[in-house]
Amino acid sequence: MIESKIKSTVRDVYDFPKPGIVFKDITPILKDAALCLEIAQALAAQLKGIEIDVVAGIESRGFLFGPALAQLLNVPFVPIRKAGKLPYKTVQQTYNLEYGSATIELHEDALVAGQKVLIHDDLLATGGTVVAASELVMQLGAEVAGYSFIIGLDFLNGRVRLEPYCNKIFSLASY
Ligand code: IMP
Repeated sequence: MIESKIKSTVRDVYDFPKPGIVFKDITPILKDAALCLEIAQALAAQLKGIEIDVVAGIESRGFLFGPALAQLLNVPFVPIRKAGKLPYKTVQQTYNLEYGSATIELHEDALVAGQKVLIHDDLLATGGTVVAASELVMQLGAEVAGYSFIIGLDFLNGRVRLEPYCNKIFSLASY
């Protein structure tokens, strides 16, 4: 089963990036080509029946499977990046971190008003990043059609923050 394969491959790194945090490191997955394909296909299979026009992936680990997922769904992929990385004109959204704040951006022509956007990232923790990504999508007049993650840290209750935007929230492995 895909969940147990993911869990047995992901590596726990203690005290990264700060003391007390157990970081789920997905890089071992990338060394297993068959598992990567299986994950991309499972991400796509979860979305059956949901209308999706575009996949928006969040820098940087949302770029690992986001394009493959978009290709399987036969829709465009657009990157959501940290401030200052996208070359063309952008819209921005700033959000709070535990200490300080961060800004993410989307090219202003990445989406067309009314498009249904699937937001993809490797992992859902508190939900702050995807809430900001949802606001970005809405700034361009598009709507959130769903959320797709490889891993959900359900004990952090990120889903509760996403539900006001869209309650179609999928992950392949939950903790
Ligand atoms: P959130 O905004 O608290 O939901 O954090 C999610 C963001 O932080 C995503 O972009 C993840 O890639 C990253 N992140 C947080 N914790 C981890 C982890 O344990 N492993 C990998 N990425 C993480």
